[in-house]
Amino acid sequence: MTSTPAALSSEETEGSALAPQFHCAGSRGLFAAVPAASRGRSPGPNGYALEEIKPGIFWISAGGYDTIFMPTGEGVIVVDAPPTLAPHMLKAIRSKTAEPIEYVVYSHSHVDHIGAADHYPETAIRIAHDATANLLVRYADPRRPVPSVVFSDEFLLEVGDRKLELRYRGNIHQPGNIFIYESTQRVLMLVDVIFPGWVPFRNLAVANDVHEFIRAHDTVLGYDCDVIVCGASYAPRYAGRR
Ligand SMILES: [Zn+2]
Repeated sequence: MTSTPAALSSEETEGSALAPQFHCAGSRGLFAAVPAASRGRSPGPNGYALEEIKPGIFWISAGGYDTIFMPTGEGVIVVDAPPTLAPHMLKAIRSKTAEPIEYVVYSHSHVDHIGAADHYPETAIRIAHDATANLLVRYADPRRPVPSVVFSDEFLLEVGDRKLELRYRGNIHQPGNIFIYESTQRVLMLVDVIFPGWVPFRNLAVANDVHEFIRAHDTVLGYDCDVIVCGASYAPRYAGRR
């Protein structure tokens, strides 16, 4: 979604409680500006934000997208590959570890989240839900290599001291969109469902099933987690339980 400032007539601004207002491309009516409380932090001088959100688990954000990677002592596990992070991802990983990238987890098939997956080594093991794999076979997009390991319900990726529980809980965003939970550090990643600081009113973040989308929020609260990584945000930030 893009917003462009527009000059408003006095009739349009009269009685407005929130100012300034913006026209949103492709939508009718006016939108209030993003409130200060919903803005994230500056990406920093490198053009991206990089933070060890839990011991051994690194969060990276730029261009409205974010994801995580983690060294394990036996190779790096990385989740997703947003194209907006492509210029930074490998550099950020190398700034924290010399371990090779051995495992790539796809949260789902959308190109804005995994469209730079070809930047990772061909030898890396790519893991995804089988619905995601089927979509990627159909897309035949060289930027999104087809996963080599697939699962239907759940998959435990246990490497070194990291334990990643991958679970499919229904069509909450698109078929194959999975919950990614690092149980030793209680970090949950769920992409394109929760948006820290704002709500995707327009098209509900292209959710395929509105009921499943809403139910997923209760599922999230059922996880024993205190950090939630959401994959996309208006500005660099991740979420907590409150
Ligand atoms: Zn998506």
